[in-house]
Amino acid sequence: MNYEVVIIGGGAAGLSAALMLTRARRSVLVVDGAEPRNKPAAHMHNFLSRDGQSPLDLLKHGRAEVEGYGGEIANDTVRGVTKTGDGFAVELSGRVVTGKRLLFATGLVDEVPEILRSRWGKDVFSCPYCHGYEFRDRKLAVFGEEMKVALVRQWSADVTHVPSVDGIEVEDDRLVAVISGSERIPADALVYSAQLTPRDEFLLALGAETSETPMGPFVRTDDKGRTSVPGVYAAGNVTDPAAIVIVAAAQGAQTAGMINVDLITAAS
Ligand SMILES: Cc1cc2nc3c(=O)[nH]c(=O)nc-3n(C[C@H](O)[C@H](O)[C@H](O)COP(=O)(O)OP(=O)(O)OC[C@H]3O[C@@H](n4cnc5c(N)ncnc54)[C@H](O)[C@@H]3O)c2cc1C
Repeated sequence: MNYEVVIIGGGAAGLSAALMLTRARRSVLVVDGAEPRNKPAAHMHNFLSRDGQSPLDLLKHGRAEVEGYGGEIANDTVRGVTKTGDGFAVELSGRVVTGKRLLFATGLVDEVPEILRSRWGKDVFSCPYCHGYEFRDRKLAVFGEEMKVALVRQWSADVTHVPSVDGIEVEDDRLVAVISGSERIPADALVYSAQLTPRDEFLLALGAETSETPMGPFVRTDDKGRTSVPGVYAAGNVTDPAAIVIVAAAQGAQTAGMINVDLITAAS
């Protein structure tokens, strides 16, 4: 099948781009592995008019909106991407599709150690803007840069910095302490700065350039989502680790507008 735009990743960034492009009557395929970064969290915050909604509900509604305008969504994982004469071939399981333009909205992976994984997005989290209010005025432990302690104090005066996290104690499904070395630090929640790994292997294979960020190298785009590779775009956490959901969605929409103009220019 041939599409004008293939979008890899159907989180907030990818679906938002798909909505713009399908409403602009472009043929669009979204390929999505359905592993959005905030899947472990029951509630999503800071999305105006959707505060407290389930992150998965947002995407369910987004998918329905895209499909309502004729967009196609494949529940699949992209296995490879290659440049062709006038576009790109995208390998899915059992078939290859082509797109004149590609948008990567593949997000990133939070490298959370095994000992914390079952509590991630509940009482262990990295983003105090997303979860801090729910733990306001409680006992909080902060792993990572001491600078983050000052930020977290915005939500509670009772904040302890933990230099290492060697384990946690849980009672009645509630975090009660963080083990740091030989110390046991009482805590209702742990703010854990996970190492971030962008899902950018295909972007890099296509030759996209990166720039250094405080969170490591991320694929560089301009403010319209263009990467250094003509015809290849990126939006959301794969290029901007700090983008919360509403920002990722905005980046998707912004990039979709640029892709549309690019297709018009190429056709004239
Ligand atoms: C625990 C937690 C809670 C959070 N809570 C909030 C919150 O309350 N409010 C807020 O604003 N932000 C929150 N965030 C941040 C939020 O998760 C991100 O802003 C948002 O997910 C970024 O959207 P995205 O579209 O860039 O990427 P994602 O939502 O991660 O979507 C990327 C999609 O691409 C798919 N994909 C990746 N590779 C492939 C491939 N090869 N083939 C096909 N599909 C692929 C993935 O399966 C996934 O579905 C939270 C983050 C975490 C970790």
